[in-house]
Amino acid sequence: MVLRWLKGLRYTDVLDRVIETGLCSGCGTCVVACKVNSRACLEYVEKPLREEGLCIDCGLCLHSCARADVLMERMGFIGREVSEGVGGVRAAYAVRTTREDVRRVCQDGGFVTTLLLWLYEKGLIDAALLSGVGKQPQSAEPRLAKSADEILASAGTRYTYSPNILPLLEEVPKLAPYSAGKVAFVGVPCQIQSLKKAHRNNVKPFERVKISIGLFCSESFDYRGLMKQKIEGEMKIPLGQISKTNIKGKFLIYLRDGRQYEIALKDIKGYVRRACEFCDDFTAEDADVSAGGVGLDGWSAVLVRSKIGEEAVNGMITDKVIEAKPLQEFKSAYDLMLKLSRNKRSKSAKTIGELPVAIAV
Ligand SMILES: Cc1cc2nc3c(=O)[nH]c(=O)nc-3n(C[C@H](O)[C@H](O)[C@H](O)COP(=O)(O)OP(=O)(O)OC[C@H]3O[C@@H](n4cnc5c(N)ncnc54)[C@H](O)[C@@H]3O)c2cc1C
Repeated sequence: MVLRWLKGLRYTDVLDRVIETGLCSGCGTCVVACKVNSRACLEYVEKPLREEGLCIDCGLCLHSCARADVLMERMGFIGREVSEGVGGVRAAYAVRTTREDVRRVCQDGGFVTTLLLWLYEKGLIDAALLSGVGKQPQSAEPRLAKSADEILASAGTRYTYSPNILPLLEEVPKLAPYSAGKVAFVGVPCQIQSLKKAHRNNVKPFERVKISIGLFCSESFDYRGLMKQKIEGEMKIPLGQISKTNIKGKFLIYLRDGRQYEIALKDIKGYVRRACEFCDDFTAEDADVSAGGVGLDGWSAVLVRSKIGEEAVNGMITDKVIEAKPLQEFKSAYDLMLKLSRNKRSKSAKTIGELPVAIAV
């Protein structure tokens, strides 16, 4: 990517604008990229934060920021390819795990955790960048899981934001040569988009990520708003008593004592993170393999997108760690996936269209 032809504009001006406009998803990829510099200027405090006087305008941040492309396109400087459907797909399955240990803790069909365990137990990865349960109940916290137990303990969905790439920060000093070691990455579409952009631009710390697993995502929610204000504050549900939450047309809350609650999605729209309104990717189109629930009960919808993803899923089928059927046999899930992809694209086009285009320098 060449930005220098943006007259008088520094890379950092563009990144600053991505943050100011609310476009920044907070994925943290730019912060990890920046750390390769001896005078790294970006820190992560809920979003990238620049320490004045340190930036050398190397451009690594923008080479790792998919949201910068959205801004640049809006300004008329570049074009972006936006797919019509759900992106490139080699195979589409409905999958459920055959592992009892995964079935007990997973969100939908347990595909993601079973894939991670299969890769780890085969020695194909050393660790996985994913999201575990944070210090506060129902919060999400990025983790580098280095054992099967840690992978298993991170199963399930937390519907708040978790910048899963960040644990790579601590690893950066230990990484050179960067290609040593093999890591799987699990993340929502905005995170996969930036990771893939960084890969395409050969940004070094990310070479270690050998396979990316994308999660379908309509939106993610602000923890304080959804969990503290709505569920704990208004509904008087102690967060520590929640065993699981899920979205199946409604936001579903399951308590440890067997009680269940539901909230209409329209009643929690106000807690959706602003950055999600700019996202046009429901199925994580840049991932090696993507998975979502799309209304399925006990199954994951799985889209295999790359050769490495295909080899892994075929290996899992051969080893019988998953049961897989053609996704088309689950017509309502298949149709819902297409509908949610279309809806996300058209909603984001409207929000992006309202973005102010000028950058003050
Ligand atoms: C914020 C969010 C919104 C989602 N919205 C939808 C949706 O609208 N429609 C849909 O079909 N599917 C959605 N999903 C995906 C769905 O919840 C499941 O993750 C998916 O179906 C895979 O299920 P599984 O049983 O294979 O996963 P599991 O085997 O249970 O593994 C889940 C993996 O997700 C990771 N994870 C958990 N929380 C987060 C988080 N906040 N950020 C990043 N990684 C996380 C865990 O580390 C774990 O590795 C969403 C997921 C997230 C995180």
